[in-house]
Amino acid sequence: MRKQIAAANWKMNCTYQQAESLLADVLNNQVSLKKNQQVIFAVPYPYLIMANSEVAEEENYFVAAQNCYTRKSGAYTGEVSAEMLQSIGIRHCVIGHSERREYFNEDNNMLAEKVNICLEYEITPIFCCGESLAIRDAGTQNDHVEIQLKESLSHLSEVDIQRVVIAYEPIWAIGTGKTASTAQAQEMHAHLRAVLTKKYGSLVSDNISILYGGSVKAGNAAELFSCPDVDGGLVGGASLIAADFISIIKGLK
Ligand code: PEP
Repeated sequence: MRKQIAAANWKMNCTYQQAESLLADVLNNQVSLKKNQQVIFAVPYPYLIMANSEVAEEENYFVAAQNCYTRKSGAYTGEVSAEMLQSIGIRHCVIGHSERREYFNEDNNMLAEKVNICLEYEITPIFCCGESLAIRDAGTQNDHVEIQLKESLSHLSEVDIQRVVIAYEPIWAIGTGKTASTAQAQEMHAHLRAVLTKKYGSLVSDNISILYGGSVKAGNAAELFSCPDVDGGLVGGASLIAADFISIIKGLK
């Protein structure tokens, strides 16, 4: 059964003290999750160990890194490897967020390498894809996202593709307050699942979680998540407000 996931992307926000109290505020609320539900906090590197120990006793709560490098180790000053993440007990990592694609020139080929190294170290990649406003306006969003998937994921085996979580995040909706309508989200998620079905068959594609990201809020989460092919969300801004993120978690199917 595929997982329904509320993933918080804190980005480059919070001091250590703020991170501790945000996490405590969410966890103290003790939202009990169904077997098929997960909550994941993607926190800045310096807080990974602290956050991971806070969620250790909580069933189906996890901590993710927001990025990792393509190489195992070596002279790559400032980078963090999947092996390092594994060595501190991290089992999830966001890969290919549009901010990394835009500001750090991460392309589909590099992201394929990042996906591979995560899987090698037993880390679930939360692979982000999505189109710009110009591409949406041109009506070519389906092709664009399909190419992102093909170039970064289509080399994976039937087994490995099921170890990946996909996050569809239209760039025009990230941090802008503009959310894709439920119809737009469902249409793209169904397209992504059809692309996966074509390559891997429906037994495999039915098992892959596809999250929606882009201005998910307490007020729109449940409606978006109710779409048959939307398996939860990757949430930026609203995940920094405990009460809002708790409502979003409660909106999971
Ligand atoms: C994100 O950072 O992945 C995101 C979707 O941000 P926001 O929810 O703020 O749009």
